Amino acid sequence: MTMAETTRIARSVAELRACVSAWRRAGETVGVVPTMGALHRGHISLVEAARAACRRTIATIFVNPKQFGPREDFSRYPRQEEADRALLSAAGCDLLFAPPLGEMYPEGFATTVSLAGITDRWEGEARPGHFAGVATVVTKLLLQAMADKAFFGEKDYQQLRCVKRMVRDLDIPCEIVGCPTVREADGLAMSSRNVYLTPAERRVAPALHRTITALAAAARAGRSIAAETDAGRSALLAAGFAGVDYLAVVDAETLAPLAALDRPGRVLAAARLGAVRLIDNVAA
Ligand code: AMP
Repeated sequence: MTMAETTRIARSVAELRACVSAWRRAGETVGVVPTMGALHRGHISLVEAARAACRRTIATIFVNPKQFGPREDFSRYPRQEEADRALLSAAGCDLLFAPPLGEMYPEGFATTVSLAGITDRWEGEARPGHFAGVATVVTKLLLQAMADKAFFGEKDYQQLRCVKRMVRDLDIPCEIVGCPTVREADGLAMSSRNVYLTPAERRVAPALHRTITALAAAARAGRSIAAETDAGRSALLAAGFAGVDYLAVVDAETLAPLAALDRPGRVLAAARLGAVRLIDNVAA
């Protein structure tokens, strides 16, 4: 067995660009995996997808304050760069771009990228300003890295749709690749926020995936989406969730609610378990 090389770190856009330019001059393709760190197997699956598709792989770690609401967990979001770097090295990632706050948002930063329509509902409604924060930082990261392809998880399905839309609308020369959600054995979608769950909450958490899977199957079987959505919401509350922000069957592309499954659909859900908010989705 050969020792994995330690992933290099770039802290500035200039260092990142110097590295990418050298690869480009050598005719190498580049993939980028944007993250907020606290890496788990879901993130690593994106690195693996990037490695399979591109000669060089960059992961980015930046806990982006602009995508957190004022009452959200920005300050306590898990930060563990050394452990993350070890995981990236083991996965064969070539470069970690981990800029400080001032490199991304220097004094006087004044620009926001935002989307209309696709952000009106679901996460966009529950977390005002969230997608403008995501769109702004992803635009910056894509333009900083100038990769051929960027890899995003279906775990954050609305985010993936927004990033695809934005890249098309702004002619950003990077292909957006969506990758399947990696789950724990009991179905819980891996998330950096799962560490917040108490053992009792952790036992309840897989009910979210069970519920959306059952709703997708009911919709595919032609049962009433309205009635089955109500039943799913009740099942989540009965399982121990404190509240359901949304549970819906939507058009897989526009994310508009569907009354009947007459086109490719997606079941989207967000529910609260104690102080933790979990999101998940599956194809319908
Ligand atoms: P985050 O660090 O949570 O901002 O996520 C960074 C990227 O990893 C996003 O594209 C996420 O959709 C993706 N991701 C997060 N969790 C998972 C998972 N369980 N499976 C696949 N991708 C994931």
